[in-house]
Amino acid sequence: DKTSNSTFQGLHRSAELFGRGQRVITGGNARLSLFQRPHPVYFAEGTGVHLLDVNGNTYLDFMNNFTALIHGHGFRPVLDRLHHQLELGVSFSGPTELEVELAELLCGRVPYFDQVRFVNSGTEAVMYTIKAARALTGRVKIAKLEGAFHGSYDPVEVSLDSAPANWGSRSAPNAIPYSAGNSQAVADDTVVLPFNDVEATREILERNRDKLAAVLIDVLPQRAGLVPISLSYLAFLREITARYGIVLISDEVMSFRLSFRGGITRFGFEADLCAFAKIIGGGLPIGAVGGPARYMLPFDSTNGKPLVPQAGTFSANPMSMAAGIATMQSLSEQSFQLFDDLGEYARSSLIEMFHRERLPYSVTGMGSMFRIHLRAEAPEGYREAYAAAEQQRKMEILIRALQDRNVIVSPTCQLCLSTPMSKDHIDEMVTSVREATKMVEA
Ligand code: PLP
Repeated sequence: DKTSNSTFQGLHRSAELFGRGQRVITGGNARLSLFQRPHPVYFAEGTGVHLLDVNGNTYLDFMNNFTALIHGHGFRPVLDRLHHQLELGVSFSGPTELEVELAELLCGRVPYFDQVRFVNSGTEAVMYTIKAARALTGRVKIAKLEGAFHGSYDPVEVSLDSAPANWGSRSAPNAIPYSAGNSQAVADDTVVLPFNDVEATREILERNRDKLAAVLIDVLPQRAGLVPISLSYLAFLREITARYGIVLISDEVMSFRLSFRGGITRFGFEADLCAFAKIIGGGLPIGAVGGPARYMLPFDSTNGKPLVPQAGTFSANPMSMAAGIATMQSLSEQSFQLFDDLGEYARSSLIEMFHRERLPYSVTGMGSMFRIHLRAEAPEGYREAYAAAEQQRKMEILIRALQDRNVIVSPTCQLCLSTPMSKDHIDEMVTSVREATKMVEA
């Protein structure tokens, strides 16, 4: 039994590596949002749904590198393409056939994509959509949803985890910089919208309509609770942005996982520009911007310097393109139907177990993604999903207890599926969650 507790070898090799890391890497390791008290687990290998740590412990991986690994680890078609490309060359100072192939594949799937451009991360993708929106409109301000995470570009590192005392009123949230490295002046150009609240959002957008270049949304914002956007809110945002010539940007770095044709399209809508990443790189670094040709025009360098120059030493590098092609070719409409069914099974199994055990916990999510909340009522957005110190302490105990029971989840207890997963893996995870909660409630 690969995931049995009885085979637990301890974590001393991870502890040692963290000790070495602390001397030469600030913070001991190069990731921020990892569960790491007293130290992170150092992984050595991944196969399918399993991860092996440096001590030889095997885990069920429900994190999949923050949702990027949609086929899990060591997916054969990706390995084969990468081995082949490795021999041909890992990066060139010019384009390859591979970028055309991946672009054709993506434009063939997402109905409103005429064109895409490739970058190296979700952060970069979001940054370029905002720059394009500014170039297209001649305006500077952007609006984002309260609590939604969009990567590390200054204008979007706003209203993420400030203390509740600084949030401002529900209907008019404050724009607080998340990083001490950002200026308040930049944050002042970001308008924060109350998620799923049409009337309050209408008032804010009307007030700023002549200054807004873009409204940036995520149809399933993770940090804001992994609560899906409401259809009426999305319909309203689509209509008001079109009316005032504001660019509607859909950040699908995570939510591109929601369907064969992307995130916003699952809800029956189209964005003007889309920033996406993660799954389309098959586990290698990637980001992309996509949209109708007229919205992609700022990047066009056919006649010289474009309005928004977009370069990058590793943009569209052959390895990421090769892994991305193999990954996306291996996803069909049916893959996403299976994700919906298995995701529903996971959410209902967890909810049933919480009821049965009389645990005051709830579950949110959609498709292949779900999140466990240590509160009885499922959150409606960022303010309810925000973990107070006591809740945060309990969450850390839960995540550590899950790790000790060989299940890896994100630090906010978000889980995601990969194609090699089955109901058996879900059942195993639910059993581990049930056992782990005993530690939390102890
Ligand atoms: N946008 C969303 C919705 C994300 O979830 C993330 C990362 O998790 C980003 C942007 C940033 O992407 P990256 O980490 O590739 O820079």
